Parts: sequence; C-alpha cells; structure tokens
Amino acid sequence: MQITRVAIHRFEIPLEEPFVTALRPIPALERVLVEVETDVGLTGVGEGAPAYEVTGETQGSTAAVLADVLAPAVLGEDPLAVERLVRRMRALVDGAPSAHAALEIAFQDLRGKAAEQPLYRLLGGNAEEPTLTVPKVLSIKPPDEMAADAAAAVDEGYDQLKIKLGRDPETDIERVTAIAAAVPDETSLKADANQGWGDAKTAVEALAGMAHHLDVIEQPVAKENVSDLAFLRDRLDVPVMPDESVETATDALDLIKRGAGDVFNIKLMKTGGIAEAVRLNAVAEADDRPTQLGSMVEGHVGTAAGIHFASAFENVIWNEMVGPFMTTEGITDLRADVPRIETSGPGLGVRVDRTKLRSLRSDVTEIEP
Ligand SMILES: [Mg+2]
Repeated sequence: MQITRVAIHRFEIPLEEPFVTALRPIPALERVLVEVETDVGLTGVGEGAPAYEVTGETQGSTAAVLADVLAPAVLGEDPLAVERLVRRMRALVDGAPSAHAALEIAFQDLRGKAAEQPLYRLLGGNAEEPTLTVPKVLSIKPPDEMAADAAAAVDEGYDQLKIKLGRDPETDIERVTAIAAAVPDETSLKADANQGWGDAKTAVEALAGMAHHLDVIEQPVAKENVSDLAFLRDRLDVPVMPDESVETATDALDLIKRGAGDVFNIKLMKTGGIAEAVRLNAVAEADDRPTQLGSMVEGHVGTAAGIHFASAFENVIWNEMVGPFMTTEGITDLRADVPRIETSGPGLGVRVDRTKLRSLRSDVTEIEP
C-alpha cells in the first residue's frame, strides 16, 4: 500500500457554549482534518486538535507543519509501517504533537480498514465494543451556576462530572461543595485545577475543603512542580492525576521515578498519536497505575481515535471524550447519546460527511506527488 495524496482541511466546530478552564475560554473548536489516500482505494482519516496553552500549537501552525513538512515526507510510503513513519516524522519535526497525531491517526485508521477490523481490536481488544461512557465537563463559573449545571447534567443522564477549577481556593471549595450538594451521592466527581493553584501549599489549602467529595484531583499544581505533585500524592487520600506534567512515555517514567502521580492523563494530542500513547500507557501499567484518556475537546474523528485507544486496554479506567456533546455539529456518523459514544465498522469506524465538512471548512490544502 502506498500513500498517493494527503488532504489537509482546516475547519471550525461551533460549541454549545464557550468552554472555560483556568487556562483560557474557548469560543469554538479550530481543528484540522487529514485524509490520507492510498493506491488500493482505502482512505484514512485523522484529526489534529491543537491547544496552544498546552502544546504551543494553533490550527494554522498545525496545518502548516502538515502541509510543508510531514505530508510531503510520507507521500509514496506505506501507511501501515506506522512505527517507521512515526520515527521519520519525529526526526523531521520536533514538537507539534497535534500535527503528528493527525497523520498518525489516519495511518491507524488505514490499519484497521486494511485488516477489516475495528482499530481497538488491533491495539489490544480489551472491551467488547468500541463504546465509552463520558463525563459532563463543567466550565468554571460562580458556584451556584456550576451547581445548577451539575444538577441539569445528572437529569440529562450523566453519572460522572468533571469540575473545572483553579482560581482562588476559597471559591473553588464553594464550587465543589455546591455541586456535591446538588447531585446524588453516587455521582462521581472529578476536579481539574489545570495548574491553577500553582504550588502544593495552595493546593493543600484548596483540597482540605473538598477532597472528601472527589474521586481524583487533576493537575493541582504548575506542570513543572513535580516535587509538589509527589508531596501531594503522599499527603492526600484523593488520587492525584498529572495532565500537563505528562505528555510522553518518558515524562510518565520520570514522574514514576519521582513518586508523582497516581493516575496519568494521556491525550493523543500530547503524545502525537496512538503509538506513543500505547507506550505511555504501558509505562503506567508496568507500575500498576491506571490511566485516563483525556481530551483536547476533539471533533468526531479525534474522538473516534480516543474511543478505540481507551477500549483497547484494561488500565485505561476513565475517559473524557466529551467533544461530541460540547459541539453543535459533527462531521461523521459517530453515535453520541448522553452519556455514551460509539463507533462501528473497521478502522476508526466513522465516515466523514462531505457536505458537513465543506460547510465547516475554511481551507483545504492537497499534497500530491
Ligand atoms: Mg486536564
């Protein structure tokens, strides 16, 4: 099999409402869709979901790295030689994980399509079906508004809530307390400070008033404060989940050596695709640690990749593939029915709706020999 053409689409997905974290408010999703065509008539699709506050990438930089460097470098190559192509792409471009992910996910889609198998079965096949139950993510708002959002989410059918925090500890405690009071006891509450508390001292102050409500606290301190992450892990009963602090398998190994992190938050847009995510997950599993498959609020194609990764391995205990429920439109036939998402068919198991893609697209670049 040979790659004959790569199309790079820039498109925007409207959100139901702006998504607010401690890092920034996000008004709409700017995404990049990659289609990899081959000489055997199969086409693979992948998505890049750049988040400049995490990896320094924008939609424009992602599309440019793909069009200028990565896509020309893989033309004529065998897309099923995934590890070889990943190595070559990394030798060419350091960083830019969303650009790498977009292409690599398309290769993985082709693997599944060529084998006529859903991708999760080729990766590991832990689950019976490629389907996930997702949490509702609550944007940072005043405590009473977040409590109302939480109650509405439970009414809608969610049984897990992810609470975005990370401003002053006092108000964050009020947020979690109000949410816990507004939902049934059995609702799973996870909180993500997105580094907002900065150091262990502030995090301890915040968590003293809320940890008893939480199943996990995500990235309580600044990403480089690894010793603070280790300190919190020793000191708290609630598990600590590094996110911004762990991008690659090497980061996970380093955190484990330093005693930091109970659960690792893996994102395909940090690892640069599925192959490195598999390695990161293996490092975690070797030390008996579970992982979460987190999201950069991907569109349908990136979400489908997440479904297959998370369905492949037993120690991926949580996921946050929430994109389909935060957006007003999807560009594939991925099924999303609160709180479940599901694909069907070989590869990623999603088919791109051309009309929808054209309506959301701002630009397309085609790379051919
Ligand atoms: Mg996070």
